[in-house]
Amino acid sequence: RENMHEKIDYVFKVVVIGDSAVGKSQMLSRFAKNEFCFDSKSTIGVEFQTRTVTINDKVIKAQIWDTAGQERYRAVTSAYYRGALGAMVVYDITKRQSFDHVARWVDELRAQADSSVVIMLIGNKGDLVEQRVVHAEDAVEFAEDQGLFFSETSALSGENVETAFFKLLEQIHRVVS
Ligand code: GDP
Ligand code: MG
Repeated sequence: RENMHEKIDYVFKVVVIGDSAVGKSQMLSRFAKNEFCFDSKSTIGVEFQTRTVTINDKVIKAQIWDTAGQERYRAVTSAYYRGALGAMVVYDITKRQSFDHVARWVDELRAQADSSVVIMLIGNKGDLVEQRVVHAEDAVEFAEDQGLFFSETSALSGENVETAFFKLLEQIHRVVS
């Protein structure tokens, strides 16, 4: 593993939220293991995954939490949010409803997490261009309005996943340092 022998300067807890089936678990597995798992049931039950990265000469251990299916019943517990310094709020660019629900997820996050939590809005499944129903401009507008960072990603191809996580971790580092 990268940085195995280096000392860790920071541990950042990041939570991934959003409607069921938008690709949260796959985003996480893409970032933590550079894998896309076609049988996504295998990720159920995993609480969090970690990846250690270097940003601005600091060794940062990102501890990224997965809802593991709780979101299906809107039963994400307060323990899940506790201590989170960053969050990815994910929707599926091919599912309008998943975008319509983003505001609710952001509200819940703001109510439960630290007030300085850094939030990144993610439009996932960017590879499914023909099925797109959520326009990037609408997401940009929402993100600007709410003070969120925004990116479209594909956990399947890997496009922008790494960049989005690095951006989030970099912003958290700015906040804490
Ligand atoms: P979660 O419920 O939000 O954790 O969603 P999953 O990560 O389990 O993914 C739900 C479904 O969407 C699975 O069938 C994945 O294979 C698929 N999926 C996830 N990310 C992508 C993506 O970027 N592109 C495409 N085409 N499918 C994806
Ligand atoms: Mg999942």
